[in-house]
Amino acid sequence: MANESLRQQLALLYELQEHDRELLSFHQRLQVIPQHIEQLEANVTKYKDSLTTKSDQLTEVEKLQRAKNGELEMNAVQREKYRNEQREVTSNEAYTALENQIEFLDQKDGETEEEILELMEKGDQLKAELTELEADVVREDEKTTEKTSEFRSEQKNLEAQINQKLKQRNTYLPKIDKKLSTQYHRWMERHKTNFVALGKNGTCGSCRLTIQPQNLKEAQKYEKLVYCSSCKRVLYVEPVDSDLPYP
Ligand SMILES: [Zn+2]
Repeated sequence: MANESLRQQLALLYELQEHDRELLSFHQRLQVIPQHIEQLEANVTKYKDSLTTKSDQLTEVEKLQRAKNGELEMNAVQREKYRNEQREVTSNEAYTALENQIEFLDQKDGETEEEILELMEKGDQLKAELTELEADVVREDEKTTEKTSEFRSEQKNLEAQINQKLKQRNTYLPKIDKKLSTQYHRWMERHKTNFVALGKNGTCGSCRLTIQPQNLKEAQKYEKLVYCSSCKRVLYVEPVDSDLPYP
């Protein structure tokens, strides 16, 4: 007859392990949530930064445009001055010299007007890109707000689940033999992996190797702890009596 108390202890320990595994996965999930939120925020910042860059570019283009228009205005004044002077000069030479100056101004203006046209095109292009970027920022901002609030509620949910699990855990723990739970905690701390391995169909559920027949027989008696000869975990094997609950 199998030793019921040890079998129950193993069952409880296995339950505790399953419990802890879930707790760990909750914790792991909880840990990555802030990173996800940060990524979302970084993405919005990226869009906002390119919006600022683009907007600065447009300001610069508009500034240049104003400067070029200023040049045209100054040249107009200068041209008017030359024309007035032309009306007063007496020599042909002086008249031609002024005419040359005016021609030079005309030529300069021609170049400036072309530059202004280019700047206007550039400005229009930037404005169109800005409109698109503004829509992107709004869209990303909305997406981030929505996703962040989803993450926040998941966070709350996980914290609640963790608290509940911890409470449940505190009810299991006292039922488990102190020596056994100490062994379990030490193993978990050192190996960060399961301590209890289920033994089903003669195979260790953890390392998947066949349990030696002698070991299996011993384990099925539940008289003492039997360890898997390969992975060294405690074996919680399927009872011979199939009416017993397992695992
Ligand atoms: Zn094993």
